[in-house]
Amino acid sequence: MEITRSSIDTAKGPGTWFTGDVYIDAIAAAPAPARMQANLVHFTPGARTAWHTHPLGQTIYVTEGIGLCQRRGGPVEVIRAGDRVFFAPDEDHWHGATPSRFMVHLALNEVDDDHPAADWGAKVTDEEYAAAPAATTEGSTRWNFDRSVAPAPRSASCASGP
Ligand code: MN
Repeated sequence: MEITRSSIDTAKGPGTWFTGDVYIDAIAAAPAPARMQANLVHFTPGARTAWHTHPLGQTIYVTEGIGLCQRRGGPVEVIRAGDRVFFAPDEDHWHGATPSRFMVHLALNEVDDDHPAADWGAKVTDEEYAAAPAATTEGSTRWNFDRSVAPAPRSASCASGP
């Protein structure tokens, strides 16, 4: 048994792997023969990974916020807290936050001597990122700092509910 107290510093995601500010907390890095590796990743608004693949695949589980992900050749998809995404081995893809929201996910990978967690490619361009569905920003509101109150919710449906 090995207890690791809350003593591992949060790491800044390297600029070669990410666009924008991304912070990584190590959750699990089991020694061989185990292959489990897990990280909690915080994406600030607008931040995203570069295009990349995982030789043994990857599961991400969104714990907070609203994010985006895309596999090569597919549409940009919106992901929210509670959503799980599996990327197949060697499937080229990216994931990140929406332009106006944080996104936090657990990243679950398998790693061994022959298979790194990821192989990294080109950055996701602003044009590729801007192909996100309009639903991620339409009707959004901004915090009113002058009055220090939250903006009204964009849905008024509760006012007419039972
Ligand atoms: Mn990935």
